[in-house]
This record gives sequence, structure tokens and C-alpha cells, in this order.
Amino acid sequence: MDEIATPRRTKEIIARHGFSFKKSLGQNFLIDQNILHKIVDAANLDENKGALEIGPGIGALTEKLAQAAKKVTAVEIDQRLIPILGEVLEPYPNIYLHHGDVLKTDLPALFQENFSDVDTVSVVANLPYYVTTPILMKLLEEKLPIDNIVVMIQKEVAERMAASPGTKDYGTLSIAVQYYSEPKLVCIVPHTVFIPQPNVESAVIRLKVREKPPVEVISEKHFFEVVHASFAQRRKTIANNLKSRFFTKENKDELEPLLLKAGIEPTRRGETLSIEEYARLSAVLLEAGI
Ligand code: SAM
Repeated sequence: MDEIATPRRTKEIIARHGFSFKKSLGQNFLIDQNILHKIVDAANLDENKGALEIGPGIGALTEKLAQAAKKVTAVEIDQRLIPILGEVLEPYPNIYLHHGDVLKTDLPALFQENFSDVDTVSVVANLPYYVTTPILMKLLEEKLPIDNIVVMIQKEVAERMAASPGTKDYGTLSIAVQYYSEPKLVCIVPHTVFIPQPNVESAVIRLKVREKPPVEVISEKHFFEVVHASFAQRRKTIANNLKSRFFTKENKDELEPLLLKAGIEPTRRGETLSIEEYARLSAVLLEAGI
């Protein structure tokens, strides 16, 4: 039997089941062995490791994961795909299918149920682009025992995640992702490897999940509030953005000395500050009761 991810077999499975693609669920299925191998290689799996896949589709990537890992858990929202997956993945006893929306799934419980007997877990997915950021932030913020996340996402989003301070792509997403992980762009992917072809360019990114954040922050909530406020209007200086969010007419003059105390020139823009500088700024503001 051919692999699932060939144009011929994919078309055959889709036709036999009378499946119609739902654009609203980001259904673009992979039909290229080369890209699948690149994705699976980047996840660094072996026979003692587990893989969580989000959105298995008709199983193109799931099949490869089952061959590379001890166990695979795949979460699929579209009920119509569950019987198809059951059929095409029948040769692989190490796959567990979960029907549901990953954003509403109790992931700690799923991990406990399925991954108690593996060394580490990788998340590997060709993500539905309409919910890429909420899915990745859920995985990172819930502090699940994940070693790395290898995902196909929109190219622009991948570039924003991996961006350095001072570049046009650097923003709140870069800081959030880099606080929890070390991102690395694996490859850019052409439209032609999908059925149907998406309108946007894609890329594979690998997020090596950090054991602890790169900086110490007193309150994560406050740290991210400061970051969000600093990017509220990209053209404004850090001082102006922070004034609008945290200060009143009465106490606005307190800000500049606090910025200087954190080692940050008030005329700088949010996009030039490193994660370390944001951590320092959050600490100084908190200390001043702001
Ligand atoms: N992994 C398959 C492949 O590479 O060919 C399919 C990838 S396709 C881009 C995204 C898949 O995610 C679809 O099967 C879609 O139904 C599923 N999906 C969309 N939103 C989801 C959600 N919130 N939770 C779980 N699965 C979702």
C-alpha cells in the first residue's frame, strides 16, 4: 500500500469517502513525502518518545509519526474524518485518536492518560492557520511536559515568532514565544505540497521548549501586560505607550526616572527592547507599585 501522503492515494481516500474540504477548518492536506520527513526529523523522535498531533486530517503526518515514535495521540475537530482515520491508520496500533477541538481539550488529562509511559513528548502538526497562535500559546502557557513543538504554519507568523529585537517582525508574539521556547525556522514550504493549495506561504518552525524562562520575572501577568502596552502603537515611544496604559495626568512624571532606572531611554520604541529589558522594566514598575 502507498503512503497516505501521495497525490494518488490522498485523492483516492477523499473520493471513496466523498469527503469535501472545509476551508473554515484550515483543511489543506500534505501530499509530499520530502516535507513530511523534514517535519518528523526536526521533532527528534524515537521508540521511547511520544507525539501529539493536532489536526491529523486523513493521517498523512500521523502515519509517519506512528513509524517514528512509541505512541501518537491525534486530536481532530472534524467528526467526518474520524472514521476515515480509523480506516487508513488501522495498521498502526500505537495511535490514539481523540475527537475534539484542541482549544477546548483538557491537555493535562490527555497527557496523563496517553503519555505516562514515554520519555518525552513532541507536538508535531500541520496546523490550521486560523487558530495557530491560540493553539501554540495554549501549549506553551499550560506548561505541559513537552520537549519540542514542530509545526507548519503561515510563513509570516513563523518569521514573527523567530524575530529579533529591532526588526520589523519583532513584537508581542516574538516575546511570548521566545519567553517559553527557542524558535528555529526549519524550512519554507511551497504551495504545491498541499491539496487544496493554500493562498498563503507556509514554513516549518521548531520551538525547543525551555525548562525555565530566559529571564526571571516577578509576575508573568505584569511582564506580559508591560510588553503588550509597549507595542500598543508601534510608532509611539515606549514612554508614550506606557503612559497611556499605566499612568494618569497626576503621576505621569514618575515614568521617565523609572525607565532610566531600568536602563531604558524613554525615546526608544517597544520594538527595540530585548526580553531582558522588558523583565527589568516590569520589575522596576512593580517595585514602584505600578
Ligand atoms: N495533518 C494533516 C496533513 O498534514 O495533511 C491535516 C492538516 S490541515 C492543515 C489541519 C487539520 O486540523 C484539519 O484536519 C482540521 O480539520 C483540523 N483542525 C482544525 N481546527 C482544529 C481544532 N481547533 N482542533 C483540532 N483539529 C483542528
